[in-house]
Amino acid sequence: MESSKHGIDGSSPQPGAEVFKAADLDIELVQTSAEKPDPNQLVFGTVFSDHMLMIHWTAARGWERPQIKPLQNLSLHPAVSALHYSVELFEGLKAYRGADNKVRLFRPMLNMERMLRSAKRACLPRFDPKELLECIKKLVEVDKEWVPYSKSASLYIRPVFIGTEPSLGVKIATKALLYVILSPVGPYFSTGSFSAVSLWADPKYVRAWKGGTGDCKLGGNYGASLSAQSEALTAGCQQVLWLYGDEHHVTEAGTMNLFLYWINEHGEEELVTPPLDGVILPGVVRQSILDLTRKWNEFKVEERSVGMNELLNAIRKNRVKEMFGSGTACVVCPIERILYKGENLHIPTMENGPKLASRILESLTAMQYGRVVTDWTYLVV
Ligand SMILES: *Cc1c(COP(=O)(O)O)cnc(C)c1O
Repeated sequence: MESSKHGIDGSSPQPGAEVFKAADLDIELVQTSAEKPDPNQLVFGTVFSDHMLMIHWTAARGWERPQIKPLQNLSLHPAVSALHYSVELFEGLKAYRGADNKVRLFRPMLNMERMLRSAKRACLPRFDPKELLECIKKLVEVDKEWVPYSKSASLYIRPVFIGTEPSLGVKIATKALLYVILSPVGPYFSTGSFSAVSLWADPKYVRAWKGGTGDCKLGGNYGASLSAQSEALTAGCQQVLWLYGDEHHVTEAGTMNLFLYWINEHGEEELVTPPLDGVILPGVVRQSILDLTRKWNEFKVEERSVGMNELLNAIRKNRVKEMFGSGTACVVCPIERILYKGENLHIPTMENGPKLASRILESLTAMQYGRVVTDWTYLVV
């Protein structure tokens, strides 16, 4: 009877609530708020706001009422499936304080829907993404003083969903916890101007494969990437360029999506990013760059795979203009060097401005910080 209550196979989790509702939020506030840090001194993900959102689920009773509470440690049975079998997934988005003092999120429904897809992949129960966004809105509103008063800092929002099945059996969780914590973060490029990264490209490690979990934000993907990252550092590079398949297709850079702006083999000016074929995490910034540049309609914009040989050829013929990563942390991050098969390949991103990367950065941050009006932002308060 229990196993028919997960609500992941089209069946409703009976007899409890199939979804949680933001209207049912219970709020318990801290007595005194902690001191806010200087946004320019912040180390990513080390400082947390006063409150958190917590929502418990059981197969037997469905979703409980969502709660906003003082930030606190979790009490978990040592057998919970999140700790043993990585029944865990997360999201990452930011709240930005605009010059008008309003607090905005950027395309947050894309994060909510991606989280729902990750939950499905991890056999965790579904929820109404709109209700989760409403709960997050309320949480950020409660902790709005934690959104830095800054043109380049922000409040990082980390939703997490874990299986809390207290059993060593490898099976679908009948207990789960969804929670959200908030962390003020400083500017990604601390000097205020772009700095470029170097990438280590070695096919010995594979980040994701078709049919795997690389297209979902499951925690296990990231723990498993640390040894490659550590080898990249040893080799004198900052991040890993993840390759895939016999043709060594370029896929992602560290935890960023990848863009190549070049003159393609047909002599056309083109922006390319790998397609969502199962080995790519569908980034919100990736989608936004595609949408934006397609709207500009000034050069070809393509989603297709590019192999290392194709890239090598283009670098040798001086056809590469810019390469950059994309993600919520940096928006765009220029790439200046790739170490592949013992050879350092110089990418002239910085010599080219980087004209395109700067223009994208300016366009997207202008929306995030409310300098231009767009329906891509969601007003918190
Ligand atoms: C989160 C993530 C990205 C970037 O996604 P955004 O939604 O743009 O922040 C890219 N690649 C990987 C592997 C990621 O985990």
